[in-house]
Amino acid sequence: MIALKKIIFNFKFLIEKKIVPLQKFKFKLKEKIMYCRNCGVEVSENAVMCVSCGVPPKEGRKYCYNCKAETAPDAKICVKCGVALDSESLEGKDWLTTLLLCWLLGFLGVHRFYTGHTGIGVVQLLTLGGCGIWVLVDLIMILTKKFTDAKGNKLVKK
Ligand SMILES: [Zn+2]
Ligand SMILES: [Zn+2]
Repeated sequence: MIALKKIIFNFKFLIEKKIVPLQKFKFKLKEKIMYCRNCGVEVSENAVMCVSCGVPPKEGRKYCYNCKAETAPDAKICVKCGVALDSESLEGKDWLTTLLLCWLLGFLGVHRFYTGHTGIGVVQLLTLGGCGIWVLVDLIMILTKKFTDAKGNKLVKK
């Protein structure tokens, strides 16, 4: 009985630890604003399409999403605010970390939280990784390099 209590306590502890950054993440989702990289208009960071020009806001090359300064089409860094414009290589999550998280803590959805799939992470946490099957699928996806983060970037080996 004591062992069981201990397991439940540890589980609660893990949930609490995971819920706090989760709420912060949600708050961020609501609040964060960026500029459309194509026309410079203010859009939500999660906008799939710019309300003004109809293009995916991150696909443009004309404006910095962070400070609205005009950028060169091939610029990797904004000359005004120094933010990275070429997000793919910089924002990609570490492949090995994701693999280890999935292997060791996959039943808690930790690898999903790490890669930004917060919603799926919560579901996996509540279902213990889809009774292990879902985690196994994820693990295979990671091993075969088909797993992407929430922004669609591939995992990178650092
Ligand atoms: Zn636009
Ligand atoms: Zn900038």
